[in-house]
Amino acid sequence: MHEFNPEVEALADDILKYSLLRLRQEPPLDHAKTPDELLKAAGNTITEKGLGGKEALRIFTDVLAPSCLSTDHPSYLAFIPSAPSEHATLFDLVVGASAIYGGSWLEGAGAVFAENQALRWISDLAGLPESAGGVFVQGGTIGNLSALVAARHTARDKAKASGRKIERWVIVASNQAHSSIKSAAEVMDCEVLFANADEDLVLRASAVGSAISKYISENPNHEIFALVGTAGSTNLGIIDDLDSLGDYANKNNIWFHVDGAYGAAALCAPSVRALFNGIEKCDSMIVDPHKWLFAPFDACALIYRNPALGKAAHTQHASYLDTLEDENEFNPSDYAIHLTRRPRGLPFWYSLASNGSKAYSDAVEDTMNTARIAVRLINEHPNLELLMDPQLSIVAFTRKGWSAAEYQEWSDKLLDDQIAFVTPSAHQGKPILRFAIVNPWTSEKELTQILATL
Ligand SMILES: *Cc1c(COP(=O)(O)O)cnc(C)c1O
Repeated sequence: MHEFNPEVEALADDILKYSLLRLRQEPPLDHAKTPDELLKAAGNTITEKGLGGKEALRIFTDVLAPSCLSTDHPSYLAFIPSAPSEHATLFDLVVGASAIYGGSWLEGAGAVFAENQALRWISDLAGLPESAGGVFVQGGTIGNLSALVAARHTARDKAKASGRKIERWVIVASNQAHSSIKSAAEVMDCEVLFANADEDLVLRASAVGSAISKYISENPNHEIFALVGTAGSTNLGIIDDLDSLGDYANKNNIWFHVDGAYGAAALCAPSVRALFNGIEKCDSMIVDPHKWLFAPFDACALIYRNPALGKAAHTQHASYLDTLEDENEFNPSDYAIHLTRRPRGLPFWYSLASNGSKAYSDAVEDTMNTARIAVRLINEHPNLELLMDPQLSIVAFTRKGWSAAEYQEWSDKLLDDQIAFVTPSAHQGKPILRFAIVNPWTSEKELTQILATL
């Protein structure tokens, strides 16, 4: 099977044609099927002799692909959609064809160089120093975990040096923080102290200060080692008061991590840049280009103010790896929980390099304009109530008089009718609907069509 013969040549044609068709046309929204339905349609695909490339491709295009939602469809507004640019998607094909190892400078210097320039763009937008740097990891969950592991490693070193015995390590975060913070704490076997966001759902230093004082008076041998600020909550797009959180953390020698998996993309949008003030005080930050920076799955930019601290926490040592350890070479493997890595930042880099940063600012502003249109349409709608004015591009609202079951029924029917994918969420125990708008293809037309069913 390792032979580029005429059959493979013909297959390559088919595969490239399919890929281009998928890019060129608006895909159907599609929907999931049950395992039984899929087994009936696809059969058992793993056989001793193999199906042949043509037949396996047919099964994919006819059966499997239509059973996967098109997350880049302009009416896919649930969770956080994806909206990769044409350039980014095309370049993913190149990365796939190139067998580049993205873990070390020795093996992937050119790719690592390009990824680092893309990281530099983000780090400059955040106002981090020239020395900042990091790595593209799989997603925000791994990005947050890797940053917090570096934070604890740093705090442990300090505690060891001062001879202090710490009974339990503690992360402070907003009660609005993403579920991956709690998950990271479980993996690390540490606690999360949830501080209450204010009524406007923004976490401020005053709330953090009182939560910590109370907690430490009850648990004197526990140590707060990290404060997580959220730059764009997933449910409602709310940005914490990064300025006061950063000051508080820096003054109290606590690692300040900013989770901007969704929202930090808007650092490049002049109309909302001021909402992120204080992000420059962070020790680490993340943003997922696969969310609102128009890259395909999966890529999270993890950036450290002082990359040496990330490296100290994450470098793996083994006799066969030591040859890679040259102090002057930058090895992306050393900065997160991974070793082998695809240079997953390259599709993002290629699109950014090709289109220029202004195209990114324009596209992010564009989606926020669409969110403003959604706000207007919701305010004009007799049955709907806007939950709050969005800070970024997530618009949340309620349908007067509906129970949770009615929301779910409506959502299921919307997808069955192939109109849109919008799932119910909740806020303070009450069901809500939300539009997460990151796709420049989403327009007033799609929003009007959805709202007409409410
Ligand atoms: C999506 C998200 C995450 C998790 O990122 P994944 O890429 O899905 O792992 C973490 N934090 C926030 C704020 C998010 O929106």
